[in-house]
Amino acid sequence: MNQKGGVGKTTTTVNLAAAIARAGHPTLVLDLDPQAHATLGLGLDNSAGGTIYDLLHDASATPSALREIAPNLFAIASHTDLAAFETDLAGAPDRLARLERVLGATERQFEFVLIDCPPSLGLLTLNALAAADEVLIPMQAHFLALQGVGKLLETVNLLATGPQAINPRLTVAGVVLCMHDTGSTHTREVVADLEAFFAQAAEQNVPWRAAKVLRPAIRRNIKLAESPSFGKTIFDYAPQASGAEDYKQLADAFLAGRIRPEAGEPPVVVTRAAHETTGATA
Ligand code: ADP
Ligand code: MG
Repeated sequence: MNQKGGVGKTTTTVNLAAAIARAGHPTLVLDLDPQAHATLGLGLDNSAGGTIYDLLHDASATPSALREIAPNLFAIASHTDLAAFETDLAGAPDRLARLERVLGATERQFEFVLIDCPPSLGLLTLNALAAADEVLIPMQAHFLALQGVGKLLETVNLLATGPQAINPRLTVAGVVLCMHDTGSTHTREVVADLEAFFAQAAEQNVPWRAAKVLRPAIRRNIKLAESPSFGKTIFDYAPQASGAEDYKQLADAFLAGRIRPEAGEPPVVVTRAAHETTGATA
């Protein structure tokens, strides 16, 4: 999440998810932005219904809305209708728990669910924060980009702490540096500021006490901007590009901290047949 637009949220959601899936982990991309950029970028048709808009109103339809993109990679599409969600549900007492319910109907099939949030801190993003375990913050290492991070962390804190906490398990995993200019002094200064901020939070009881500036940074690479117009991830569109290399390494680093072999609990692998069966019995 990041309430600022154009920072690399969608690019990171789609390509990090693709890289995790390619490493063998069943992964779901959930497009929660009414602009439906992840949906478009994955080449999904959202005109025939079965989008997150429908599921937020009726979670029982979730299994049939799962689309298979590639081995281990699944998606739930978005639609411009989703823009009406905030007004539709303004008075509903369970309005913050809708996405959690949608995920409850799918989650056990996936090792990772990546949610692409809209550029706001409104009800859709709050639903994501209520349902998630971790927050990733894509951003550019520019001075003004830092300004919004305080407000973002305040929102996370609101949901994660205190006696009324809606999601006490929520933590901030860290910042993904997008469109990164490695050569610039300004960039290095902003990254140093961010690292100092997270280092000092390590001793505080805040949801970002374990947050890091995640590595590697994602270099600016035009192939990452081109690939959505072909409805492809960077791995299918330009596997030799620096964007593919950076997202693969980011995924490897991300997985290294999270995948622990657990005795007697093999991961559930989604096969095409299992997926279709689930859809048929929904
Ligand atoms: P957000 O979802 O935060 O609005 P996007 O992921 O859509 O941001 O990125 C904004 C624009 O920048 C898009 O046109 C995208 O293709 C482009 N972009 C994102 N990351 C990179 C990158 N590393 N190099 C070049 N272009 C990028
Ligand atoms: Mg986006």
